[in-house]
Amino acid sequence: MIGMKKNAKIGENPRCVILGSGESGTGAALLAKRQGFDVFVSDKGVIKEAYKKQLDAHGIAWEEGQHTLDKILNAHEIIKSPGIPEKSEVMQAVRAKGINVIGEIELGYRYAGKCTIVAITGSNGKTTTTMLAYHLLKHAGLNVRMGGNVGNSFATMVYEDVHRRQTEDASRIFVLEVSSFQLDDIQRFRPNIAMLLNITPDHLDRYDDKLENYVRSKFRIGMNQKRGDLFITHQNDENIAHYMKEHPEAVKCRIERVRKSDLKNGYIRIGRSLAFDIANTPLKGPHNAFNAACAIRVALRLGVEPGVIEEGLYYFTPPPHRLEKVGEVNGVIYINDSKATNVDSVFYALQAMDTPTVWIVGGQDKGNDYSPLFKWVKKKVKAIVCMGVDNSKIMSAFKKLKKPMTETRSAEEAVRAAMGFADEGDTVLLSPACASFDLFKNYEDRGEQFRIAVLKLKN
Ligand code: ADP
Repeated sequence: MIGMKKNAKIGENPRCVILGSGESGTGAALLAKRQGFDVFVSDKGVIKEAYKKQLDAHGIAWEEGQHTLDKILNAHEIIKSPGIPEKSEVMQAVRAKGINVIGEIELGYRYAGKCTIVAITGSNGKTTTTMLAYHLLKHAGLNVRMGGNVGNSFATMVYEDVHRRQTEDASRIFVLEVSSFQLDDIQRFRPNIAMLLNITPDHLDRYDDKLENYVRSKFRIGMNQKRGDLFITHQNDENIAHYMKEHPEAVKCRIERVRKSDLKNGYIRIGRSLAFDIANTPLKGPHNAFNAACAIRVALRLGVEPGVIEEGLYYFTPPPHRLEKVGEVNGVIYINDSKATNVDSVFYALQAMDTPTVWIVGGQDKGNDYSPLFKWVKKKVKAIVCMGVDNSKIMSAFKKLKKPMTETRSAEEAVRAAMGFADEGDTVLLSPACASFDLFKNYEDRGEQFRIAVLKLKN
């Protein structure tokens, strides 16, 4: 870590180079500048106009379209955006030089001051659980903000607090969604409450194709926790259970485990005396009951009354593109689960279906093994509509289940084909199990195009 010298003169300030200037890089740049660093931002891609304006307004030098090593390797410290892989040329040069590298989460933590930090990670359910935990605390009137991998970066929020001289206000709570890439670049980051929702294979290309590396990265969320902190996790997740058995030292504070058996008959049970009604909330499916159980534990730990939590659950609006009902046409319900970019999230989506389902699946395959889905496809799916440039892997994986199948190459085509298979009382579910980049800009674009196609049917 670099400290600022007292009374430092211009030219004497430690140099901090930010690699990547998206939301996290720009927030980090503003905070580092505010703390007196000599800041330089370098992005190999194009920097968004809005971010350029912010950097210019604060007199921060930047470059785009390249990484000029001469201007980078003279840094005292590097702040790396989570999207930049270790294998990249620039990171290899930085590592060879032995420069300290951190991420924006670590930088935010360094200057956050007195506050409570709730950090949430997992392969699936991070955004939903982060938003729900935030909502429950906000509903209870607490001084809480949400960010990290969703919305504002942590560094941006801390920058605002430093600016307003609020870092001594201990009532502040930050609820942070944290990805494994962000956890790779923490050093001292210590959440008061850490949450590890689940672990299923994802992003393995960044972890030398080794699940154990990805699991280790996820457990970094608790590596600096101490007695008095809390670690919330999933009792029935095999990868988590296995790692904790092999590494009993991985968690050093109190552990609260949510069990499958806590979630029954539309209620979430916590301990012997508490039960929360989940059936009458907008949170659908067993996976969301699990997410809710984790978020409720955060609220209880931070002193929210159970009655206030129950009310908060009722008023929660789940984020879009996650099992989101987008319309009903001729008695058929259309559900947008575009954010389901891996097999595990589709597993839960299909499980949550309670009427015969026409399933729209496909996109850019991430090395998927579709076999865990066979059970649910057999049970719930009446027809499969593939939507992707190359559908061959999906077609051959599900051929043996002998369901009607067709191929499409746009959201509109897919929705029309699905309509052809669906009868009154059925559901059409877009839950792709794949990335969206073959046909769409991103998962939001895919979900929006699906929504528009459904609206067109309606009209
Ligand atoms: P993340 O931020 O981790 O990607 P989201 O809350 O955005 O998680 O949800 C991503 C996808 O995973 C959605 O399709 C959603 O329905 C599904 N999902 C949400 N929670 C869980 C969970 N606990 N287990 C499995 N899948 C989940």
